[in-house]
Amino acid sequence: MKERKRKRLSKRDRIKVIERDNRTCQACGKGDRILYQEVLDYCKELGTDILPDEMMSRVAELDHIVPFSCGGECAIHNFQTLCGSCNNSKGSLSMEEFMERRKEKGLEVFSI
Ligand SMILES: [Zn+2]
Repeated sequence: MKERKRKRLSKRDRIKVIERDNRTCQACGKGDRILYQEVLDYCKELGTDILPDEMMSRVAELDHIVPFSCGGECAIHNFQTLCGSCNNSKGSLSMEEFMERRKEKGLEVFSI
């Protein structure tokens, strides 16, 4: 079997995914995610590379919809926007499993 390699999306593709998702976490529905580019610009403006916590908590993360470990591709259509805390707790669960678990815990479940 051929060995698979994780590919990182280009900056432009990352922005495409986040804009496509309306800057909204696809698990909990929290919106107004910040793009990495905006974070970088903001830091430049402040002349620092340390970002205030309240901004950091709004940074969008990209998640494999079908986990890489389960054969998910590293392509735009297999990425979605999640907030940091959702991405952390999703781990290598599939989106369905993750949403199921959120329901069981009585957490918000985002639907379009
Ligand atoms: Zn979230």
